[in-house]
Amino acid sequence: MEIWQCVEGCGACCHLDPSDRPDLGDYLTSEELTHYLSLVGEGGWCINFDHATRKCKIYQQRPRFCRVIPETFEQMFGVERDEFNDFAIKCCQQQITGVYGKNSPEMEHFNQQVGTVENLEFRI
Ligand code: SF4
Ligand code: SF4
Repeated sequence: MEIWQCVEGCGACCHLDPSDRPDLGDYLTSEELTHYLSLVGEGGWCINFDHATRKCKIYQQRPRFCRVIPETFEQMFGVERDEFNDFAIKCCQQQITGVYGKNSPEMEHFNQQVGTVENLEFRI
């Protein structure tokens, strides 16, 4: 079984373009949605994303909706804890596909580190 982990050198989920995430209002509070939209910068990337390192500049203080942990996914998406792993992997694959492409080096790196889960039916 593949175990989810965030891999170095990715950052795909820091591409926040709201047009790619039409369901934001379904899982964010109104305050969070306002916060989310305030973070969207040039090209749809989060203003806190360091493009050189592909890391979050406020990692310890990042918002709840950036935290890929079982508690957050249960609250936001209703994902049971025993489903978290597969759901998180699919979310990453979906996001990496959208940002870098299905055959990108980033996807290859993610799949090498984490493994693959078929059927990309989820979206964050
Ligand atoms: S898409 Fe997944 S692997 Fe990439 S930065 Fe986000 S959590 Fe990490
Ligand atoms: S706050 Fe940090 S983790 Fe959240 S989207 Fe921005 S750069 Fe990424």
